[in-house]
Amino acid sequence: MTMTSQARVSTDIDDEGMDDLVTACRILVNEGILDAFGHVTVRSAKNPDVFLMPRAMPPALVTKDDVLELNVADSQPIDPQGRRVNGERYIHGEIYKARPDVMSVIHSHSQAVIPLSLTKYKMRPVVAQAGFLPLESPTFEIREARGSGRGMQVTDGKRGAALARALGYNPAALMRGHGNVVVGRSVKEATVYAAYVDINARMQTRAMLLSTDIVTMNDAELFTPEEFDINRPWQHLKQKAIGGAENADVDRSQFGLEQTQASR
Ligand SMILES: [Zn+2]
Repeated sequence: MTMTSQARVSTDIDDEGMDDLVTACRILVNEGILDAFGHVTVRSAKNPDVFLMPRAMPPALVTKDDVLELNVADSQPIDPQGRRVNGERYIHGEIYKARPDVMSVIHSHSQAVIPLSLTKYKMRPVVAQAGFLPLESPTFEIREARGSGRGMQVTDGKRGAALARALGYNPAALMRGHGNVVVGRSVKEATVYAAYVDINARMQTRAMLLSTDIVTMNDAELFTPEEFDINRPWQHLKQKAIGGAENADVDRSQFGLEQTQASR
């Protein structure tokens, strides 16, 4: 046994969630969505009052051994073992607190959404695969949350709670001049949603260069989470990022045709 595996910090490990967390970091870095400061977290499968978050480090380098347990109640690490925790961990803790349905949170500085966050326009679903989005996604304004404090980052519980309120029950919220948060019922779902939020924002802003009067999707064109087979884009993004599918145990039957919008 190596020292690395002995040093594994988390004692409440959901192995599948941990694997997905590391894979999600690779995928989102590969897609250009996570920069050096973005982060992915997952709620513990065994204790909903705990979430798992990599220590403060570049997401491209995250391994299972870097993952710490934090309390949802106050976003503080249970046992940091001398490791530096991420300053924006309150984003995650406060969203998990406000949203019992959320099992994974992604915060990125996606360059695709930032231009949109600087305008009066809201992010709207404009590409078919982004039909999980509502007709209008909220934009969080840090100035309304930080009082006399300084900075753009969500570095305390008060700012995190304000962000969670802005997010509401939506799958994503833009953060003005900063990036976004995307949530899901699993790491896989949050990752796939983050990828399509990025694409959607890019397509919306590109269209608005041609005209601000664009055609966005309507209610009949949206879909429910159950109507969207996230396994297919997850496997696709994973293969792009880390490869290995030719040797992996991929259930090809999962890419079924039952996931359609026919029932809506
Ligand atoms: Zn940030």
